[in-house]
Amino acid sequence: MEKKEMLYEGKAKQVFATDKADEVVVRYKDDATAFNAQKRGSFARKGELNNAISTLIFEYLAKNGIPTHFIEKLGDIEQLVKKVDIIPLEMVVRNYVAGSMAQRLGVEEGLKSPVTIFDLCYKKDELGDPLINDHHAVFLGAASYDELKEMYALTDKINQLLIALFDKMNIILVDFKIELGKTSDGKIVLADEISPDTCRLWDKDTMKKLDKDRFRRDLGEVTEAYEEIYDRLQKAVNS
Ligand code: UDP
Repeated sequence: MEKKEMLYEGKAKQVFATDKADEVVVRYKDDATAFNAQKRGSFARKGELNNAISTLIFEYLAKNGIPTHFIEKLGDIEQLVKKVDIIPLEMVVRNYVAGSMAQRLGVEEGLKSPVTIFDLCYKKDELGDPLINDHHAVFLGAASYDELKEMYALTDKINQLLIALFDKMNIILVDFKIELGKTSDGKIVLADEISPDTCRLWDKDTMKKLDKDRFRRDLGEVTEAYEEIYDRLQKAVNS
C-alpha cells in the first residue's frame, strides 16, 4: 500500500489517499478541540491512544457483526480504512444524562435514562452541528426514512455491544457519538472513530471521568485517563 496526497484535514485527524481508489489512510493527531472548536489544545499521546483504542473497539464490533470501514492498524497513529461517503449526521446515544442534554433540559448530569435516547445532529461546522430530527434529515437530503431506520437499528446494536464491553472494564458508558458512512456499493457502515474523544466514560466505583470531559472541563490527567481506558480495554478484549 502506498500513501499518497492528503485529501482532508479535520480537527483531530488527517485523511490520505492510497494507490487503491477505495481505501484511505487515517492519521490521528494529538490536537483536541471542544465546544465547536472554541477551545483548542493538544495533549501528549492522544493520537496514538485514540488510534489504538478505536482499533480495538472496531475489531470487537466487527467480530460481533457490525459492518465497519476499518481494515487494519498501520502504525502508532495510522489506520487503513475503506473510503466511504460520510453521512452528514452525528448519531448520539445517551444512556445517562450529561453534557448538552443536561444543559438543554435542565436535568442533573448523571441521571440514568430508563430508555435509550437517540439524538441526531447535522454535521455542519458553521452552524455548530445543530440538533435536528428525522424530518429535517430527510428534508436536507442527508438520509431517507428507510436509511434512518437502518441507521438507528445499527446504532442501537452498537450501543448494546459497547455497554457490554465497557461493563467488563468497570466503566459506565454514559453517552457517545458515532458517524456512519456509505461504501461505494451503497452499504451503510460504521466509520470515523470510537474513543474517549467521542464517548463519556465514567469509572463505576469512583465515577471518575475517563474521557474528553477532562480536557473540556480542565480537570487535568487527560493523557492518564486515555491510558487507563486503553489498559482496561486491552484486558477486556483479551479475556
Ligand atoms: N460528541 C462528539 N462529537 C461532537 C459532539 C458530541 O463526539 O461533536 C460526543 C460527546 O463526547 C459525548 C456525546 O457525543 O460523548 C454527547 O455529547 P453532547 O451532545 O452532550 O455534547 P457536548 O457536551 O460534548 O458538547
